[in-house]
Amino acid sequence: MRKYVIMGVQGSGKGTQSQLLAADLDLAHISVGDIFRWNVQNHTKMGAQVRRVMAAGELVGDDLVESVVQARLTEHDWNFGFIIDGFPRNRRQAEFFLETYDIDAIIVLDLPDSEIRRRVLNRRLCVGCGINYNLIDSTPAVPGRCDACGGELTTREDDTEEALAVRLRTYHEKTNPVLDLFRRKEYVITVDARPVPEAVQAEIRQQLGLSPQKPQDSQDSQNSQEPQESQKSQGSQGSGSA
Ligand code: AMP
Repeated sequence: MRKYVIMGVQGSGKGTQSQLLAADLDLAHISVGDIFRWNVQNHTKMGAQVRRVMAAGELVGDDLVESVVQARLTEHDWNFGFIIDGFPRNRRQAEFFLETYDIDAIIVLDLPDSEIRRRVLNRRLCVGCGINYNLIDSTPAVPGRCDACGGELTTREDDTEEALAVRLRTYHEKTNPVLDLFRRKEYVITVDARPVPEAVQAEIRQQLGLSPQKPQDSQDSQNSQEPQESQKSQGSQGSGSA
């Protein structure tokens, strides 16, 4: 049983790296942002509650976030463990989490703000199947159309200059201090997120003491992750775009 947390600013590749690790180790990939996005896209009551906050790049309230995480983890579909992405994001969430679960490692993806801006503003999402593209190195064959389903590619509502500025500030002010808390209690590894996704994955595995990834796993994972129904998520993060 392995329990990991992955942290990093939006655009650092958390989704992509989580999916690569989860697919290989049979972990449940739990993305709080994906759960919220699914609710927004499906017009649920929770979606209505979080939509404006998300679009502005702000953090959703702790009570709601904690209940979502708790509900997700009580599904107990994680016999081999889980990797949780996008949580915790502040001190209160971290304390709540550490009280409840023994975490094996915190994976921190490190990326300069300038590169984050470049990645996030070039990110596109298929409205049909949720695959992510970026217009830097995974452009679709037909501009504006998904290679897999032909759906329209749109920009995520929170991938704007304004929302990004808020998210970066929030990350530096609220999420970075969480790392100090983790460093005292847990096993934190920091990985340079600038290289291509496969190289970042190899570095994560090496630092976690795992064997190198089998070649077919990296092939499968390139821009082709199916959203996981059990996570009620749409918009899995594709190659280098998360
Ligand atoms: P993400 O895809 O992880 O960047 O999350 C997208 C958005 O969902 C964030 O900008 C927040 O509005 C919200 N969100 C996701 N995770 C959390 C969290 N742990 N705490 C508060 N808000 C969150």
